[in-house]
Amino acid sequence: MAADRAQKAERIRHLLATEGASVEENARGFNDGRYESVARLEEYEDYKDRARAIKEDAIEHLPDLIEQVRETVEANGGTVYLAEDAADANRYVREVASDTEADTVVKSKSMTTEEIELNEALEAEGSEVWETDLGEFVLQVAEEAPSHLVAPAIHRSCEDIAHLFNEHFDTDEDLETAQELTDFAREYLGDQIREADLGITGANFVTADTGTMALVTSEGNARKTVAVPDTHVAVAGVEKIIPTFEDLQPFVELIGRSGTGQDITSYVSLFSPPVSTPPVDFESDEPIADDPDDREFHLVLLDNGRMDMREDDQLRETLYCIRCSACANSCANFQSVGGHAFGGETYTGGIATGWEAGVHGQDSAAEFNDLCTGCSRCVNQCPVNIDIPWINTVVRDRINHSGEDGQFDFLVEGLTPDAEPAGLDLQKRFFGNFSTLAKLGSATAPLSNWGADLSPSRWLMERVLGIDRRRELPRFERETFVEWFRNRDVPRSVDADYHAVVYPDLYTNHVRTERGKAAVRTLEALGVAVEVPDVASSGRAPLSQGMVDTAAGHADEVAADLESYLEAGYDVVVIEPSDHAMFQREYEKLLSEEQHESLADRSYEVFEYIYGLLENGADISELRNADRGATEEIAYHSHCQQRTLGLESYTTAVLEDLEYDVLTSDVECCGMAGSFGYKSEYYELSMDVGSRLGEQFETPEAADRTVVASGTSCLEQLDSLLTRQPRHPITLIEPPKS
Ligand code: SF4
Repeated sequence: MAADRAQKAERIRHLLATEGASVEENARGFNDGRYESVARLEEYEDYKDRARAIKEDAIEHLPDLIEQVRETVEANGGTVYLAEDAADANRYVREVASDTEADTVVKSKSMTTEEIELNEALEAEGSEVWETDLGEFVLQVAEEAPSHLVAPAIHRSCEDIAHLFNEHFDTDEDLETAQELTDFAREYLGDQIREADLGITGANFVTADTGTMALVTSEGNARKTVAVPDTHVAVAGVEKIIPTFEDLQPFVELIGRSGTGQDITSYVSLFSPPVSTPPVDFESDEPIADDPDDREFHLVLLDNGRMDMREDDQLRETLYCIRCSACANSCANFQSVGGHAFGGETYTGGIATGWEAGVHGQDSAAEFNDLCTGCSRCVNQCPVNIDIPWINTVVRDRINHSGEDGQFDFLVEGLTPDAEPAGLDLQKRFFGNFSTLAKLGSATAPLSNWGADLSPSRWLMERVLGIDRRRELPRFERETFVEWFRNRDVPRSVDADYHAVVYPDLYTNHVRTERGKAAVRTLEALGVAVEVPDVASSGRAPLSQGMVDTAAGHADEVAADLESYLEAGYDVVVIEPSDHAMFQREYEKLLSEEQHESLADRSYEVFEYIYGLLENGADISELRNADRGATEEIAYHSHCQQRTLGLESYTTAVLEDLEYDVLTSDVECCGMAGSFGYKSEYYELSMDVGSRLGEQFETPEAADRTVVASGTSCLEQLDSLLTRQPRHPITLIEPPKS
């Protein structure tokens, strides 16, 4: 295990050094472009809802739609072949190539043909295959796999590509600029297209009512691939079918914006093949041949696991994916390391886990699944509202269950109160049972803190559990937050307008108790009657390790522990954003609808609650911190989950109402992500992601400000990135201690 982790760390280190800079520049550029482009589209959310509804309907009625496509394409004069798997699809296309005596085959970009390794299959039969998309052409020359769904050579810089082309091609002069490279590729590929006997495309969408293939490209190469050779094969996954031509509209609006930040992709080509354009005869003096009837069209619809995914309640949502790449571009880990780490045999980025598990199997998904930290930043960016982190979690859970008994299982047998199988990776089991460790840590503090810091302990932890020695460990408080509240000698308010439970999340209860105490004092100063009962931990820790049954057990306990308070009209105030997100989002999957709704409706992130109290007349002057004078200027970083839930503005609003000068980071992720940054295989990646935030808070504008963050992970990461000690914002606004 330790060797596997070291190997993984080495690979990530290598990719950070060789491909990281280009991937970051391009993926972040796409992501920024997406924000700008969708902001210009008033109906953005409506289009997303429509796109989602169309996809849900299409997958529900997929067998009927396949038959309808067969009828319309055949009525148009083409042929439809439903391929069971990659081998079946490749055999069919090879036969077409053989029948048409296709020596030269040209292709436009298609991830589905990457999935089935069609090029290799055709080349094995003697055809020469050329990729006509510029990025794919670069990879063909470099003999590399795509690192991105939409921009396959995103990991290569212009200089890199110039070097590659100059080495590979015999040009009169060395190529240097992007323009020179593009001109060369256009001319070179133009020759191949003119020679081609067979053109192969994918299809972004196939409309069942008209048999239309919709293809979006940046270079127009799909049009040439379809129009020049007289035989056209389109290879598309069955999930690409949508019911009607009109249904294309929301997708055309969304796909370019979501992927590359373009309001519309450069070329949107709609073909209902065989196309009626007469074939071009480059050999003849007559530029256009007479007979359009010579054209042949074959649509290969690929199953390759998709129909099983359709029957799988958890993976089915993957089939709604339009492969726009927004989930990859918005993912902080992807921005650092790219698809050669964050991807499987074919697919890359957040949704790749679902695709790989569905079409290539769990082993391929297991290679990179842990790179999804479940931060949920991709959820709002997905144009079809796919719950990508949940798919990653479910597949992680399945991977956990596929392991064999491990050599150290005897160490944890009976000691860990989880619902997981033997053979679960010890690192996962350790982090997933952090609640047990935290109880033990507090009960034996300060001895536990001292013992954990000893060099032999750190060596052992790194060797057996993969906890990186460079990370500072949490320091447990002897008196927990719940105990502090219980031991307080403060009379309860009996006639308060508001009653609230402050939820004692794991970190607030055992490690960062000061923020819990500050929250209690703040709420009481605003007239809230507060309780801090002993409530189970949310299950965020096991869920992040893919321990879904264990997380569901925690959710049940939380619901039971809070039931009487909810029935008595208490609100639930949550300090840790990732726990609040559990209550709002993930509990929908873990609890009954009634239980989830009753908790989600009554739970509030702590600053959301304070903002609401102030809006309803609470006295803000109670919140002026006595020693605030020195901390007027703040650099604030909100938590990923807060941003996803749209809650970060409440903290800023309250701080500004208190006349703090707040500079908010636009870096979306701190890189720590709970246990992720502790894991030795991911430490460097975590620090690379965090460095963007660290650099922003070291700029002249922010360097002298008090650093404030809402999430435990963000606080820990900022602590390791900066010399200034970061604080939770609640500790800034709590009333002076009397
Ligand atoms: S999951 Fe959503 S965001 Fe990701 S590629 Fe698919 S459609 Fe795009």
